[in-house]
Amino acid sequence: MADELRVAVVGGGIGGLVLAIALAQRDVHVEVYEQAGALREIGAGVALSGNANRLLHRLGLEDALRAVCVEPSELVFRRWDDGEVIAAHPVARDGWYADTQGAPFYGVHRVELLRVLTEAVPEGVVRLSRRAVDVADGPDKVRVTFADGTSAGADVLVGADGVHSVVRRHVAGEEAAAVWSGTIGYRGLVSVEDLPSLPDPTPLQFWAGPGRHLLHYAISGGRVINYLAVIRQAEWTGETWSEPCAVDDAVSAFAAWHPAVTEMVGAVDEMTRWALHDHAPLRQWTAGRVALLGDAAHAMLPHQGQGANQTIEDAVLLADSLTGIDRDEIPAALRRYEDQRRPRTRRVQGFSRMAADCLHLPDGPEIEARDAMLKRVPDDIAWIHGYDVEEAAGRRVQ
Ligand SMILES: Cc1cc2nc3c(=O)[nH]c(=O)nc-3n(C[C@H](O)[C@H](O)[C@H](O)COP(=O)(O)OP(=O)(O)OC[C@H]3O[C@@H](n4cnc5c(N)ncnc54)[C@H](O)[C@@H]3O)c2cc1C
Repeated sequence: MADELRVAVVGGGIGGLVLAIALAQRDVHVEVYEQAGALREIGAGVALSGNANRLLHRLGLEDALRAVCVEPSELVFRRWDDGEVIAAHPVARDGWYADTQGAPFYGVHRVELLRVLTEAVPEGVVRLSRRAVDVADGPDKVRVTFADGTSAGADVLVGADGVHSVVRRHVAGEEAAAVWSGTIGYRGLVSVEDLPSLPDPTPLQFWAGPGRHLLHYAISGGRVINYLAVIRQAEWTGETWSEPCAVDDAVSAFAAWHPAVTEMVGAVDEMTRWALHDHAPLRQWTAGRVALLGDAAHAMLPHQGQGANQTIEDAVLLADSLTGIDRDEIPAALRRYEDQRRPRTRRVQGFSRMAADCLHLPDGPEIEARDAMLKRVPDDIAWIHGYDVEEAAGRRVQ
């Protein structure tokens, strides 16, 4: 069809790939331009919640996901030193989470998730080694220029190019300065066999203590534990947002914690520390025929595990918004997408900032109220996990 809508996507991460799958399934022409020479993800886990999984299932990915994902048995919060359980809530146990939130909760290795997504993208859609450097919106077409001097034109351009987005500069200028959270994270993958002190490897589990917390869950058939250990740090002087460090740095940050925690943090051969930043909410996500999604639009702290999940919500709603429209309807369709997504992602960004503060309280009188709150977590997060972005937008088409 000579006259079909053409969508160009900059960035082949989780957001760009889900958008490509959803557009292709809706018969909208899509091309994804990725700067790397191969699609790749870091060696770490990612937690996918019901609000994203209901959408991935609708895209026909349920069987492929179930083959590589692990459902945590429970959500458990423990005290940092003696391991006392503060609160425990069912997840896969008795089918509780899927029944109440409308879709399951998964832990998955990022490399395995990327494979599932890549296999669902039609051949020829992804163009590798194309680093976008500039965007120009003309009267009929938007044009993206790449570092190798080539360019591509499209009716719609989507910036799914992550937290350091080039497309964002075109849409929102320089307003999106990164905000340092005062926390750094150590991430690792550890074989369950190397964790004899861990009371139970099956839940998604938080260990909460003064100025620190550790979160872990199982991936890769339950044989591997993915963890993120977070500590407060006054400043970040590194030139990039992640840098190698000694394993002992992380272990000594958790000295005096429960042996399951120190054992887990120390059970890796190499360590990287990640400076955790987010962005203040943008004033606009779209300009003319150009739109942002995912971390390019709303980089958030990982403490609610929602960055990728919100990105998936963006991608599916954007695909719905671009389905069955004429060219002259593009700017209005993009604005509607933005209006539907901004308030929710802004609220999740704020919620993610608060989460670490509450886990990091010092032992003392405030703990009682905090612990009471942790006993209510499923009710408090239902607005995130039980949400159906397509239904909320009146766009449910399947
Ligand atoms: C420690 C940590 C733990 C996390 N855990 C979770 C979790 O459990 N659950 C969750 O939902 N989220 C989690 N997140 C957040 C999640 O990883 C991100 O929100 C998500 O990956 C964003 O996807 P994206 O597609 O927007 O961006 P990205 O995944 O960053 O992808 C962007 C892509 O664009 C490409 N690109 C960049 N610039 C250009 C350019 N100029 N031209 C062409 N291509 C370009 C990049 O190479 C990349 O492939 C975590 C984040 C951190 C830091």
